[in-house]
Amino acid sequence: MTENNHAWYALRRTLPSWSFEDNLQELIECLPRYQVDEIIVKVDTEEFSHGQPPLDWVKEYQPKLFRIKQEMDKLGIVYSLNPWITQGHADRGRDDRQRFPGLQTMVGHDGTEAHSCACPLSGVWRENTGKVWTLYAETKPHIMWVEDDIRSFNHSPVTYGCFCPLHIKRFSDRIGKAVSREELVAAILTPGNPHPWRKEYLDMQSEIMIDAASFLAKTVHATSPDTCMGLMSSGPREHCLEGRHWHAFAEALANGCQLYSRPPTGVYSENSLRENYYAHDSIKLTRHCLPAGVIEQSEVDNWTFSQYSKSVNFTLIQMAISYAYGCSGITLNLFDHCGTPMERTPEFGRLLNENKAFLNALAAKAQVKGRFRGVKLLRHEKAAYAKILAKNASYGVLAEDGYCFCEKLEAHGIPTVYDDENVIVATGQNIAAFSDTEIKDFLKKGVFLDAVAAKTLFDRGFGKLIGLKNISHPINIDELGELGAEEFFNEKFGGTEKKFLTMTIRGADGKRPSLSLIEPTGDIQEISRLVDSDARRQHISMYAFENEIGGRVIVSCLDLATASGQSFNHPFRVEQLQAAVRWLARDAVPIIVEGDGAYPLAFRKDCEDFTLIGMFNLSLDPWPSVRFTLADNRDFTTVMILDRSGQWLAAGKDVEITRANDRTIIEVFREIPFNEPLFLSLER
Ligand SMILES: [Zn+2]
Repeated sequence: MTENNHAWYALRRTLPSWSFEDNLQELIECLPRYQVDEIIVKVDTEEFSHGQPPLDWVKEYQPKLFRIKQEMDKLGIVYSLNPWITQGHADRGRDDRQRFPGLQTMVGHDGTEAHSCACPLSGVWRENTGKVWTLYAETKPHIMWVEDDIRSFNHSPVTYGCFCPLHIKRFSDRIGKAVSREELVAAILTPGNPHPWRKEYLDMQSEIMIDAASFLAKTVHATSPDTCMGLMSSGPREHCLEGRHWHAFAEALANGCQLYSRPPTGVYSENSLRENYYAHDSIKLTRHCLPAGVIEQSEVDNWTFSQYSKSVNFTLIQMAISYAYGCSGITLNLFDHCGTPMERTPEFGRLLNENKAFLNALAAKAQVKGRFRGVKLLRHEKAAYAKILAKNASYGVLAEDGYCFCEKLEAHGIPTVYDDENVIVATGQNIAAFSDTEIKDFLKKGVFLDAVAAKTLFDRGFGKLIGLKNISHPINIDELGELGAEEFFNEKFGGTEKKFLTMTIRGADGKRPSLSLIEPTGDIQEISRLVDSDARRQHISMYAFENEIGGRVIVSCLDLATASGQSFNHPFRVEQLQAAVRWLARDAVPIIVEGDGAYPLAFRKDCEDFTLIGMFNLSLDPWPSVRFTLADNRDFTTVMILDRSGQWLAAGKDVEITRANDRTIIEVFREIPFNEPLFLSLER
């Protein structure tokens, strides 16, 4: 990054041997026109990957890397490198066991054995990777980007963990007793309170991956001490499956140099704009896990590399989300790895060029040091350690809960963060990893819980502080009789009699939601109840409670992970959830967004000299206008608005400001279509 170039573009590109000269000439010609700042060369990639890279093949390819670097140097474009595999993403018919005698491949929790994806404990893998990465390091890349296949899950066909003989031996040595894969997996997935072996295994896995990261960095730095390491990751909730200890892992990979991070924006093939809730969350959450000072270049991909997979508009939205949420750059994987010229899909090159000024102006503001605001989502890197599993739980259940409701809050105009705020949201079991002291501190603030989180707290002895004498495990509502809707009747919380929200909600498993039956203490305030076919009120579905330590609690008796369908979302739900967080925050929610539209993705970032606010419209229908309500906002004198040409202009008459009761309301009376996100700067 330079002082005036904030929207850093890093293009990931493969130059196959058979089309090398053509691809190189095209890079020389097009990259300046696309305004690309960094080329990340991918080697031995995708369709034509050899699996574990053969040393002779890489030796033969290495002069081409020097050649690329030389040409890029002339253009002032930074040269970085991205080995396509670390351990390997997927076998896809490849079998490396003959070419690399003694190679230990991954063995999954169910005994599935990979044929190409290597176990990080394998000596043969280390030896070959060490030699290959030394050849890479000799070309002195600015950044050596490590793929997210440095992990212990999703090495297709292996699903979870590594339970190969090397892992099993190490685990047996660790606990001083010979165990089999079957015994260990059964212990990890024991129903009820976690078996002590789960912690031992997750600790061991985490240590092994830290050691693997250290091995890669030391290999590179032995030859090229100035090369920085870059880490792609797979989303922190997934990394809970392997017990990743982020700070130690990051420290090992950085090995004393600047570390780069490539959080995925996901959605490699586009289905719905709404999938971009994942994109922004991935950036925020990955940042929250990593040490301060890591430079972020988000990952915007198109797979399989044409408008059939992802439109130009969708790509632009992901780029704008990346910069709006503070990334320093974007890595772009837009063109195929088969040697096809980039100009066969010229719309992507034009996209980069035509939007550079706009993105640069956005990034210049969003990269200023500051703090994003919203309601706080709980998360814990040791979530998998603490989870209480049901009988016959699948291994994947060990991933961290919480994304589902993050998406719901954002979609209903309530921005979320992972830093401290006055309202805390806990869904599923993500509160389980916190200590009793930490939980008690949360309960002094405003806390929103779903059924699973409330049950978790009740079982930990916090019933009295959340208004409960008893609570059942969530039960599918079809087992509770005829319950067609939720009556949202409490006027104090935005409801009215006979205001109904459908319970015909299809969750992720295709079933209707589950509800916990509760026995509340006498002093709760009911917000809504499920009703039968005659609209008679039955079970409580949401209530509010003020506890004796000064905190406020709202419990949704639904297991919100089972209410993940779109039919949960509704303008009444906007009223219900916004009223809930307003009450929890004692009317001081940092940011709330409203308007005559659906699926906003909004944010607020407080910096010393200004507050940046913005909104993406993740629906195809334009919003006619939008209203931001900001609490505890410092005074400002001018409102600037970003136009598409990349100019911050003083806002005109279509922006109205009202200040009352320590709140600022900013109304923008201009249409916000999906492909024109809105950004405002409140300048002090
Ligand atoms: Zn292994």
